[in-house]
Formats: sequence, structure tokens, C-alpha cells
Amino acid sequence: MGFSITILGCSSSIPTNDRNPSGQIINYHDKLYLIDCAEGTQLQLRRYLKRIQRLHAVFISHLHGDHFFGLVGLISSLHLLGRKNELHVYGPQGLEEIIRMQLSYTHTELVYNLLFHVTNPEVSELIFDGDLQVFTIPLDHRIPTHGFLFREKPELRKIRKEVVLSEKIPYTEYDSIKRGADYRMADGTVLKNESLTDSPPEPRSYAYCSDTCYTESVLPLVQGVDILYHESTFLKDLAEQAQQKFHSTAEQAATIAQKAGVKKLIIGHYSARYDDVEPFLEEAKSVFPETELSYDGLTLNIKKKHNRI
Ligand SMILES: [Zn+2]
Ligand SMILES: [Zn+2]
Repeated sequence: MGFSITILGCSSSIPTNDRNPSGQIINYHDKLYLIDCAEGTQLQLRRYLKRIQRLHAVFISHLHGDHFFGLVGLISSLHLLGRKNELHVYGPQGLEEIIRMQLSYTHTELVYNLLFHVTNPEVSELIFDGDLQVFTIPLDHRIPTHGFLFREKPELRKIRKEVVLSEKIPYTEYDSIKRGADYRMADGTVLKNESLTDSPPEPRSYAYCSDTCYTESVLPLVQGVDILYHESTFLKDLAEQAQQKFHSTAEQAATIAQKAGVKKLIIGHYSARYDDVEPFLEEAKSVFPETELSYDGLTLNIKKKHNRI
């Protein structure tokens, strides 16, 4: 089953010729989840993902324009294309008011249900509980901001068919065995769960941390994730400016990745002042070698892992 991330935009507040501001798509089992929706995001969605009606939910990190100015346009296009399924939008207080006001003044009566869920940037919360679980990651930025952690739901344990069949364990017991129960035979012998099942694969995970200055408060929330996207708006020679604007440098993003023991770091949200972003890679790799630069259109797949021992 697929779990991929496509970068729709990796610029900070101003778009450049080849970099759109923030937007990313998680494709999980062919359901699309959008993270942030800068101006131009729907064009990027069409360019890289094609079927935008498969959009399942939208997650907005904060109310700076480079993270949501494209949302009303996208909502309107889905309406004009005759969307039938409801659309859930998760974001901070104020987002619903802004979008509804735009729809109201443009006399847009949506043909589908648009449902908003207000998030709290102060605490980490489970905000979405489907095939994937989504948790907020409080960040340190100029206005209330949170990132998101996307994590697969842990699977049930895998039954060893040859064992349960040879022991003639009734089918009705399979469910509790999958959940970790032992099985007691008619003669009182207990078959331990480890002999009846194999461990499921480790849940895959992706963390999105933009926008934020360097803060170690995210470490426990992103510990060991498969991929961490962390903003790096500036290079370290502008660390002071980064701090003043509540943004991070490439070196700081890499330090977070290294301290959290993540498997891979993706950096982005580059300031428009930089034409060449290669120096970001060098700076980050000197701290955390498993770093990759994001660019518009980059797709990363998180492979299913082998069973735990
Ligand atoms: Zn931003
Ligand atoms: Zn911002």
C-alpha cells in the first residue's frame, strides 16, 4: 500500500520562477491529503497529481498567506467541477471565517459540504483518525502555528495460519489473537501469542515542521519518523535574521533531524533571495548526512517495513 509525499511548493513567502510557496500532498492508499495551500497550489496539484477530486482533507499550518492564500480558489474549483464528497479542512481559528466570507461575497453556494475543524496550536493533539492518524506539532513562529505528524495506524498482529490450523483453534478466536491474546486449549495448555502470530510492520510516519524557528520542543513529537520535512528559510550566515523572523537555517533543521534520530530530512521553504539552493544541502549534510533538498514536483515514497522481530 502506497504512502508518498509530493512537494507542490518549496518557496517561502514569495514565489520564484521555479518555486511555488508551501503546499504538499500525502498520497496514502490513493487518498490525497493536502498540507498547506499557497497561491498556485491547485495548478501544482493538476500538474503533479491530476485527479484533484480525490482530495480527502486539507491541513493548514497557520494563517500566513504563503500557506493558505490558494485555499478559496481550490475550494471554488472543486465546486465548479461538481464535487459531491464533503471536504474537511483542519486549521487555526479564523480560517473558516476568512473562507466563508470570501465565498459569501462571491455568491458561491457550494455544491458539496465544506466542514472546518479548528485546531489548537498550543498543544499536540490527534486531529484526524482515519487510515492515517494526524497529530499537530506546536511550533514557534510569529503567529500561532503547528506542523503535522502523519502516522499509519498500527496494524493487528499477523496470524500464523499453519500454527492455528494445526492446533485447531476456532475461527472465532482469531480476532482476539490478532490483538495479542494467548489461547488456552481444552486441556488447559496455554499457547503464547508469540507462537501464534508475527509482529506487524512498523507504522510509517511523516512529519511536517513549517514555519518555525529552532525549537527542541518538537523533538519528542518527531522522534524516529521516516521523513521529517523541516523548514530552512535561511543559511546559517543569516542565523540572526532567521531568529528575528522566527524561521530556521539549514544547519538548525539538520540539528533537529539529528537529535530526533529521524531516518531522512527534507528541507525547504527557502527564501526567495536564494537562486541556488545547493548551499542549503551542503550546510545541512555537514550535520545530518541523510538530507535531501525539496523541489517542486519531488515525490518521496515511504516503503513498507519488514515485520518487527
Ligand atoms: Zn511560510
Ligand atoms: Zn509563516
